[in-house]
Amino acid sequence: MHEKSIAELATALKDGEVSSVELTAHYLRRIETLDDAINAYVTVTGEQAMEAAKAADEARAQGNAGPLTGVPIAHKDIFCTEGTRTSCGSKMLDNFIAPYDATVVARFKAAGCPILGKTNMDEFAMGSSNETSYYGPVKNPWDTERVPGGSSGGSAAVVAGRLAPGATGTDTGGSIRQPAALNGVTGIKPTYGRVSRWGMIAFASSLDQGGPMARTAEDCALMLNVMAGFDQRDSTSIQRPDEDFTKRLNTPVKGLRIGLPKQFFGEGMDAGVARVVDEAIAHYKGLGAEFVEVDLPHSDLSVAAYYVVAPAECSSNLARFDGVRYGYRCEDPKDLLDLYMRSRGEGFGPEVKRRIMVGTYALSAGYFDAYYLKAQKTRRLIAEDFATAFKDVDVILGPTAPSTAFRLGEKTDDPVTMYLSDIYTIAVNLAGLPAMSLPAGFSDGLPVGLQLIGNYFEEARLLGVAHQYQLGTEWCRMAPGGFE
Ligand code: GLN
Repeated sequence: MHEKSIAELATALKDGEVSSVELTAHYLRRIETLDDAINAYVTVTGEQAMEAAKAADEARAQGNAGPLTGVPIAHKDIFCTEGTRTSCGSKMLDNFIAPYDATVVARFKAAGCPILGKTNMDEFAMGSSNETSYYGPVKNPWDTERVPGGSSGGSAAVVAGRLAPGATGTDTGGSIRQPAALNGVTGIKPTYGRVSRWGMIAFASSLDQGGPMARTAEDCALMLNVMAGFDQRDSTSIQRPDEDFTKRLNTPVKGLRIGLPKQFFGEGMDAGVARVVDEAIAHYKGLGAEFVEVDLPHSDLSVAAYYVVAPAECSSNLARFDGVRYGYRCEDPKDLLDLYMRSRGEGFGPEVKRRIMVGTYALSAGYFDAYYLKAQKTRRLIAEDFATAFKDVDVILGPTAPSTAFRLGEKTDDPVTMYLSDIYTIAVNLAGLPAMSLPAGFSDGLPVGLQLIGNYFEEARLLGVAHQYQLGTEWCRMAPGGFE
């Protein structure tokens, strides 16, 4: 059963070939035997999953099934789940039982999807390798000595390892796309505002966006149909009519104009990644797509701008973790200041502290104009580059990450090298555009991801362009050894 995609599982459930109880139990057994090797789940919610599966089967028997009723999924541990620990990968929230469901979680529950568990992640979603998690790193199922990427590395690894048919992720600077690339799965970061951030623990609010991760673009479209939609409780949620994200899956790519940003094809990209991207370009040419070079002249400033804006916002968002209301509290504080200082000092890990310090500095009176304001201006220029490019092309294509999965520990001592993992993904978040990663081949046995970037609200088009590629290639159907 686990080799089936979400679309195939939905059909099998509909045809009565399998029940949700059988399917959910099957996945829970796989998690039990296989997750120790990759550490991708922080919490497994077997009992609740089985109850929800029973309810899904009953709903189906009564004729009340929706498209995904009974398909079990996993949630990144950044989404609040009522009655279940929501740790955000941090000691700070190790004891936090969320009192309510995030909108995304509530929507999947309403759609009848049992929750298998909560996936491991970089602490507060800060990282590109999952090594900043309080629960230890996730290991890449393709090679357990290597990282799965981050911060949604747990979600990517459970999909790659067939420990869930699909999982939710969040992407602030690349955290859906980069781990999707490193694990050989498909993931999409929607347009900023498409998916509600309510109950999704905030890192950098103007960049954070939830999205689906699954085997195929078709599966991502089905999941996005559940996740996306206006939410009154999120002030940046976009009010647009509901859309069916599967509507363009069968649109041929013949005549599609695809832009290749010249800045994405220079130095810095591994030869193996470059070869795979070239092969994907050739495949699309074979399908009748046209390629043109586009210029994104400010994209080389994106990592620098991001590492001012994101820490600035995180320093403000994370101020709420003070040891008073919820989360970690130090032992025997001698006064209030001691309580704040030690609770935060002991509860946060080194990367989170680094970001809070950088952000506080960038926002401080003497430096605000020099750093924060400058970064916001740069952000506008980056968005304008994309607007100009999209006058000429329908989608933009390039690599997702400069390399394949690197070794555990390889980049932990050098934050700047780590930050460069997102060199091709970060500009998209600064501009608020939708973008996805899909598996496009292998280099030395490790998966390589292809990135597609679309104009605002063009998720359905992106998913269609990816689906057309997946119809003619096998990459998205391959499983890592030991997890077949
Ligand atoms: N790797 C980037 C960071 O560390 C992006 C993380 C993310 O998208 N959540 O901030």
